[in-house]
Amino acid sequence: MTAILILGAGPAGAAVALGLRRLGYPVTLVSEWRRFAALEGVSQRVLEALRGTGLHQALADATLPSQRQVNWNAQAHAQNIEFLLDRPTFDSGLRESLRVAGVDVIERRVLSVHSSVDGHRIALDGGQILTADFLVEARGRQAPASGKGLRGPETISLLNRWQGEPGVTASAVESLEDGWAWMARRDDGQCYWQWTVDVASAGLPGKAQLLDHCRARRHASDFAQAFFAGGQESELQLHARSSTAILAPQVCGENWIRVGDAAMAVDPLSGNGIFQSLSSALQAPVVINTLLRKPERAALAQRFHQQRVEQLFLRFARIGRDFYADEQRWCEQPFWQARRQWPDAQMAHAEADFAALRIARMPVLRDGFVDEAEVVVTADQPLGIWHVQGVEVAPVVRRLRDEPADQVLAGLSEEQGRVIRGWLLSQGYRPSP
Ligand SMILES: Cc1cc2nc3c(=O)[nH]c(=O)nc-3n(C[C@H](O)[C@H](O)[C@H](O)COP(=O)(O)OP(=O)(O)OC[C@H]3O[C@@H](n4cnc5c(N)ncnc54)[C@H](O)[C@@H]3O)c2cc1C
Repeated sequence: MTAILILGAGPAGAAVALGLRRLGYPVTLVSEWRRFAALEGVSQRVLEALRGTGLHQALADATLPSQRQVNWNAQAHAQNIEFLLDRPTFDSGLRESLRVAGVDVIERRVLSVHSSVDGHRIALDGGQILTADFLVEARGRQAPASGKGLRGPETISLLNRWQGEPGVTASAVESLEDGWAWMARRDDGQCYWQWTVDVASAGLPGKAQLLDHCRARRHASDFAQAFFAGGQESELQLHARSSTAILAPQVCGENWIRVGDAAMAVDPLSGNGIFQSLSSALQAPVVINTLLRKPERAALAQRFHQQRVEQLFLRFARIGRDFYADEQRWCEQPFWQARRQWPDAQMAHAEADFAALRIARMPVLRDGFVDEAEVVVTADQPLGIWHVQGVEVAPVVRRLRDEPADQVLAGLSEEQGRVIRGWLLSQGYRPSP
């Protein structure tokens, strides 16, 4: 049996491990624990995606619902609910999900990886050597770079954590002249203020003065002062995390794959990091299954993973760019100037145009393998749409070029007909009068 080794037990590594177990593969995973405590904000959609992956244990005690305020471009936006995820609790829950699924977990630091077409040799802290036929790289942002990919403006997030007075759970985002801050407080008084700045222009002092510098900046914000409502600050700690958006140049080979932040790490502004890491991880088991059991489709499987990861990365980069552009007060400041024009000028969402739809053969997932099928390529979905409500849409779009809609949709059930008509309208289709 092929020996599959996963490096990293974050959400991405855990999701791949569970998916591979469902396909019947034995899986070994090596990971150390994250070295700092953090809170991260996630939406209801992320919680649903995590549950859908089978990572129930990870969520059991890890989330707190929070009212979120957004103060951007001097405007206070309507509050919405986000969930505050306690990462140490979440990460322990991921290990528990892995244990329940029968994944062999080795708690060690990976020191080096040597790969060739014949397999991989992994050296662990403590001297142990592991070998594997197939390697899943899921060490997040700590995964060694694999060449020159695409990088956004160099960014760093300074996470300040302290114990304050107990109160009401809440979170907020505020734009600042030279960056932005995400802040959260829990009912037990744990407080977080995460300041994200431009590496080149922030003019940060040395390590010894950084904590005081951050505190002074936080105290200078009326919004943050009101959010934390004064009170005592004890056990103040600082942890710096790189938060540059990074797309790895290659994310899949014949006997390896990169998933999660190791494949593409997004700007934390999107609040979508965990969602993104799951998206690339959820498709990986089928890609791996194809590489191992249908090697004749290796190129197709690699193309599938590569294209999806790139597409996802660019989509979120453009949405982030537009959000940065909404902040108009400091357009000329280096932080905002660099981010309002990266990665390009292409629209995040293109207008629907039925006449511009294309039919093309693209990699798709069919019966546990990557396969090829005719799909409808739209400006918004350049990788194509295969099915809508169980109906293959490429033949429908092709026939609609010469035939009336009633005739083309005649064989569908009432429900399918309703959904397909709705989808066609959303693609700009207008039936002739
Ligand atoms: C500043 C900042 C703020 C963020 N805020 C949010 C947020 O609010 N909401 C959100 O959804 N996302 C947020 N994210 C993103 C989120 O943290 C990541 O996208 C997500 O954790 C990626 O999951 P992953 O499984 O790919 O990697 P990770 O979760 O990073 O997991 C990698 C695992 O590999 C292990 N590992 C690393 N190196 C080694 C080694 N050498 N040997 C053994 N094990 C190793 C690590 O210990 C860890 O367990 C934020 C990111 C940053 C940088």
